[in-house]
Amino acid sequence: AAAVAMAEQVVADLREKCETPVSLLHDVAAAMAHEMAAGLEKEGASKVKMLLSYVDKLPTGGEEGFFYGLDLGGTNFRVLRVQLGGNEKHVINRESREVTIPPNLMSGSSSELFGFIAAELAKFVADEEKCTNSLNGKKRELGFTFSFPVKQRSVASGTLVKWTKAFSIDDAVGEDVVAELQKAMEKQGLDMHVAALINDAVGTLAGARYYDKDVVAGVIFGTGTNASYVEKADAIPKWEGELPSSGDMVINMEWGNFYSSRLPVTEYDQDLDNESLNPGEQASFCVKDNIYEKLTSGMYLGEIVRRVLLKMSLQASIFGDIDHTKLKTHFLLRTPHISAMHHDETPDLKIVAEKLENNLAITGTSLEARKLVVEICDIVARRAARLAAAGLAGILKKLGRDCNAQKQGSVIAIDGGLFEHYTKFRECLESTLGELVGEEAAKSVVVKHADDGSGIGAALIAASQSQYK
Ligand code: ADP
Ligand code: MG
Repeated sequence: AAAVAMAEQVVADLREKCETPVSLLHDVAAAMAHEMAAGLEKEGASKVKMLLSYVDKLPTGGEEGFFYGLDLGGTNFRVLRVQLGGNEKHVINRESREVTIPPNLMSGSSSELFGFIAAELAKFVADEEKCTNSLNGKKRELGFTFSFPVKQRSVASGTLVKWTKAFSIDDAVGEDVVAELQKAMEKQGLDMHVAALINDAVGTLAGARYYDKDVVAGVIFGTGTNASYVEKADAIPKWEGELPSSGDMVINMEWGNFYSSRLPVTEYDQDLDNESLNPGEQASFCVKDNIYEKLTSGMYLGEIVRRVLLKMSLQASIFGDIDHTKLKTHFLLRTPHISAMHHDETPDLKIVAEKLENNLAITGTSLEARKLVVEICDIVARRAARLAAAGLAGILKKLGRDCNAQKQGSVIAIDGGLFEHYTKFRECLESTLGELVGEEAAKSVVVKHADDGSGIGAALIAASQSQYK
């Protein structure tokens, strides 16, 4: 009983430190809107980088013809081809192929990686075009979704700032990834033009906008998090070039690095942040700061819960006399595990028991202990979802769409495994956004799951940017 009481104290402390009352969320949203404006004002003026994507024409739905897309961002890459039939028909056909990247290529040389990609792409093109001749004398157009930090100076170029996730190919850093890809395609004898370089957030925006002109933002809650939205070109003081004829510019926010003193950060998050700077960890654990991302994305939620469980076990022996080797292992408890535990509806929390046993070697747990575990998952996931909603409210605020009834609807397209699969996260995010914008404005604000933006979005942007329209 003493153990339970002490464990309850750990959970009560956590609950208090993770509280996100509406007043706090309003402050976070206001801070996000403020940082957005600062980031647009001057390069380096905000932790939120607000990068120009150079995408000034989003797909309208009227595009026609065959276009290719390439999606590189994780351990797989995908190639795809779409046939667009214009306003009535939209996507007539879509074929895609997923290819696993051999691990040795992820840390080899730039020419090996892009050579492999170009070779797979060439095979795909040859297979697809056997059935339909899609060219009609036009050059093939490709959109490239590359979800790593790049510095762009035009829509179809960008130098790699650094690798993240499992990639580390030194000689590619500082190089133009489009030029590398283009060069590799030429070597393959593949006649194709890279029309656009984008990331998954911009792809999600484009993919959803193609069907619905009310879409104003594309957001990812997956392994990491990021957001993009459509800004008026004349609201970007730091832009020195010629203003686009469309008057619009898609901004790649890179909002994972957002910071506000109002963010409810606990000792567990702080420890995670400090330790993530240790050398020897996987590259993606080294993203300095990125505190907003750590509080709201799939890579970290399981890890935060693990840290709370460890403290609860060491301080209160809530799991009895167990071996802590696994519970002490960083990133062993993953977000899909906490999602499964959080959604456990069995009366004796059988799934919680199973996950603790299989993943952390914690056996023979009491029902009381399991209930506390579920509550910890709830606290961590709910904080994530509410802060995520505050970020979205910040975008709406920046656009002046956050209060009162709007004549025009505002649709936010969201993709990513966390949003897609973690039901309680998604539901909490949606209801919190409603709370934040208020009943009237909520009628015109819609959150929508946009599937596969990073694949098809690239092809659609290639179509809208296409020089052969
Ligand atoms: P990426 O962001 O790497 O492109 P995804 O969008 O598919 O990939 O997101 C994958 C992430 O989604 C995983 O790292 C994990 O954190 C989260 N995720 C996947 N499945 C689930 C699940 N069932 N429950 C909760 N989170 C999940
Ligand atoms: Mg993805």
